[in-house]
Amino acid sequence: MCIRDRLRDRIVSALEETILPELSSVIEEVFWMTPEDFAKDYRSMHGAGFSIEPRLTQSAWFRFHNRDKALENLYFVGAGTHPGAGLPGVVSSAKVVEELLTGVEVASGSGG
Ligand SMILES: Cc1cc2nc3c(=O)[nH]c(=O)nc-3n(C[C@H](O)[C@H](O)[C@H](O)COP(=O)(O)OP(=O)(O)OC[C@H]3O[C@@H](n4cnc5c(N)ncnc54)[C@H](O)[C@@H]3O)c2cc1C
Repeated sequence: MCIRDRLRDRIVSALEETILPELSSVIEEVFWMTPEDFAKDYRSMHGAGFSIEPRLTQSAWFRFHNRDKALENLYFVGAGTHPGAGLPGVVSSAKVVEELLTGVEVASGSGG
C-alpha cells in the first residue's frame, strides 16, 4: 500500500473514531490533493496552498510588503504579501497597491 493510501486510511480512521462514526462504510469515492499536486498543477512554490506560513514573524506588517524596497514601480499582491492569504487578504493586497499607485484611499464595504 502506498503512502498516500496509508495516510487516507489513517485520516478516515481518525474521523471515524472521533466525529464521523462508520464513515468508511458510506464512502463511495475518495479524492485528495497533496502539496505535490499544488506544485505540479497550480505552480505553487513548494506546493504551499497558502503561500508563506502565517506565523508571527511572517504575518501582517512582517509579510512581504506590497511595494518593493529596491526597485521603483515594482509592486506585489497575493497570498504571500501583506496583509495575508485567503481571498479577503488577497483582495486587500490589491486595494493596498491601488492606493499606493493612485494615492487615493479605496473605499471598503460592498456598496457600488
Ligand atoms: C484547499 C484550499 C482551500 C482554501 N479555502 C479558502 C476559503 O475558503 N476562503 C478563502 O478566502 N481562501 C481560501 N483559500 C486560500 C485562497 O485560495 C488563496 O489565498 C488565494 O487563492 C491566493 O491567491 P493568489 O492570487 O495569491 O494565488 P493563486 O490563487 O495561487 O494564483 C497564482 C496563479 O499564478 C499562476 N502562476 C504561478 N507561477 C506562474 C508563472 N511562472 N507564470 C504564470 N503563472 C504562474 C498559478 O498557476 C496561479 O494560477 C484556500 C486555499 C486552499 C489551498
